[in-house]
Amino acid sequence: MNRAFAGSISALAVVCVTMSSAQQKPTATIDDAALRAPESRTQDWLSYGRDYYEQRFSPLNQINDKNVAQLGLAWSFDTATDRGLEATPLVIDGVMYTTGSWSVTYAVDARTGQQLWKYDPEVHRKYDNLACCDVVNRGAAFYKDKVYVGVLDGRLVALDMKTGKPAWTATTVDQNQPFTITGAPRIANGKVIIGNGGAEYGVRGYVSAYDADTGQLAWRFYTVPGDPSKPQENQALEKAVATWKGDVWWKVGGGGTVWDSIVYDPELNLVYVGTGNGSPWNRDIRSPGGGDNLYLCSIVALNADNGEMVWYYQTTPADTWDYTSVQPMMLADLNWPTAAEAAAGQPGRLRKVIMQAPKNGFFYVLDRATGELLAADPYVEVNWASHVDLKTGRPVEVPGAAYRDKGTYIRPGPLGGHNWQAMSFSPTTGLVYIPAQDNGRYYEQPKGFTFTPNEYNLGLAPTGRNLERYDIPHKGRLLAWDPIARKPRWTAEYGNYWNGGTLATSGNLVFQGTAAGEFIAYNAATGGKLWSAYAGTGIVAPPITYAVNGQQYVSVMAGWGGAFPKKFRSVGRLLTYRIGGDAKPPVRTADRPVTAIPSTASAADIAAGAKLFNTYCVRCHGGATVLPDLRRSTPGILNGLDKVLDGAMVERGMPRFAEFDRAMTGQLRAYLLDERRKLAAK
Ligand code: CA
Repeated sequence: MNRAFAGSISALAVVCVTMSSAQQKPTATIDDAALRAPESRTQDWLSYGRDYYEQRFSPLNQINDKNVAQLGLAWSFDTATDRGLEATPLVIDGVMYTTGSWSVTYAVDARTGQQLWKYDPEVHRKYDNLACCDVVNRGAAFYKDKVYVGVLDGRLVALDMKTGKPAWTATTVDQNQPFTITGAPRIANGKVIIGNGGAEYGVRGYVSAYDADTGQLAWRFYTVPGDPSKPQENQALEKAVATWKGDVWWKVGGGGTVWDSIVYDPELNLVYVGTGNGSPWNRDIRSPGGGDNLYLCSIVALNADNGEMVWYYQTTPADTWDYTSVQPMMLADLNWPTAAEAAAGQPGRLRKVIMQAPKNGFFYVLDRATGELLAADPYVEVNWASHVDLKTGRPVEVPGAAYRDKGTYIRPGPLGGHNWQAMSFSPTTGLVYIPAQDNGRYYEQPKGFTFTPNEYNLGLAPTGRNLERYDIPHKGRLLAWDPIARKPRWTAEYGNYWNGGTLATSGNLVFQGTAAGEFIAYNAATGGKLWSAYAGTGIVAPPITYAVNGQQYVSVMAGWGGAFPKKFRSVGRLLTYRIGGDAKPPVRTADRPVTAIPSTASAADIAAGAKLFNTYCVRCHGGATVLPDLRRSTPGILNGLDKVLDGAMVERGMPRFAEFDRAMTGQLRAYLLDERRKLAAK
């Protein structure tokens, strides 16, 4: 077979070169049977979570806890972007398919990093302001001879696997509304399943299924009801109407967007979707008079053939904190004991479960055939609910947490105890590896609420000068959670939150990248740190592993971004490692020594500045990320702080902080000079 691509490549957006001769010989088509039998393709990464269970566990063990210290860079591929990279690459028969900023899709030789083709959907740059959380994309899906990618502007595009040329395009949203797609499509029995985002702006959430061959819409499931005076699309929504009050919700859109997790179970023929927060966030504005607001913040199980709801479980009834339940879900078959069996130390019987660690801070285990709640336990510090009642299946809210009469500080905050950064599970250790994080937010009723199209419509008072936020924690950790014992086994602590997703392998390894730009391998059983490499920028994406011609590789997209910051200071890269890899890795420049600058600031100003720093600056500029450590700022920056805070560096990704006045800037400078004095004395 001639491996060179034939035919004309007319689209400007497509760049194509001849496939490398080193590429592996294709074995068989990736059809439904192949997707259901990942054990016959241990060398590949077939779909978003590697296979339908989405455990992100690879049976490869050539790289293992004995030799991982010899891991070196095999190759790197520059994406020439400075925006967030969140994708999980796919690898099939020695070709890697991945996505970058602005939904650009790449095929590269997985052995060498040589680009085979590139598809740029040429998204209008107005979407920079319509995407809440950066112009990111979390990856593609692969089926038969096509690569499927969801485009930021709402398109779903099927690309020819060999050329990157579009075979069909479906517009999955009303492009006059602020919908965006950042999530990866999934394949379910000949259909491509895709959701979307936009609940911060005000939209009605849904998930759609398209015929994989033709791009024809097969079914659509709305996650929240529409105009209650009209018939709803299905029985599930007819039931949901009674759980909403007033008329703000359906005029604003209601929310419940399916912007990340979609998992298919071929045995039960169910598609599980995670649904997002309400539009607007504030339940007293969204649905005055109460109600659970179904099916916000829920795991919903749909019949894969027709999209009819089979069961649902709502993690956060009447959400009012942006506690989406869209976070990555995984399937597992676990020996699950009853309470009596657990007390007697017996293993219980095999249950088909689905697991999720959504933003709200509780780790959930459900029976995935029925939706029965088996466990819900806090995996980070939680102060909005005391616990989840396993009998009723409902969280027990702490009085005042819903900030009806008085503003309050809630943990976790809108970034969640865990966000979209994928977790992994090792059947060998029995542990789930969660990129967990500490954060919080001050929530307060606004003076009033007016819906503004194409703007944030959260229904909250601006956080402004609520310095109650000063003690907000900004920490992250890799958390090894035992789902059966329902407790942590070990953690690895980081100086900041917003770290990367995780990968587990049968080499007794867990891989994770960090906000500070370290790519790390841990002993999966004990949490011992075994290896790390500097990535040149912070990492948020989850790593993968695969093999070509008998050689195992580990790959990760490096490019910090997402919910914050929207730009970073170096080129995004796809980094790939192997044992003995000797390509030139990114090098960290050593910290310049600093000298003290005399200051006459008072202790009170320094203390006030510390609060400001910890409120506004530390999460990006505290020395635990790849962004500049403000305590090491040049005198020029320190003297020009007023201008920087007023937006002088917006083009370089530093946002404007309008709430700072001259006095506050002076206090911040006083604190930074004092910190600089301490650094100089070291
Ligand atoms: Ca949200």
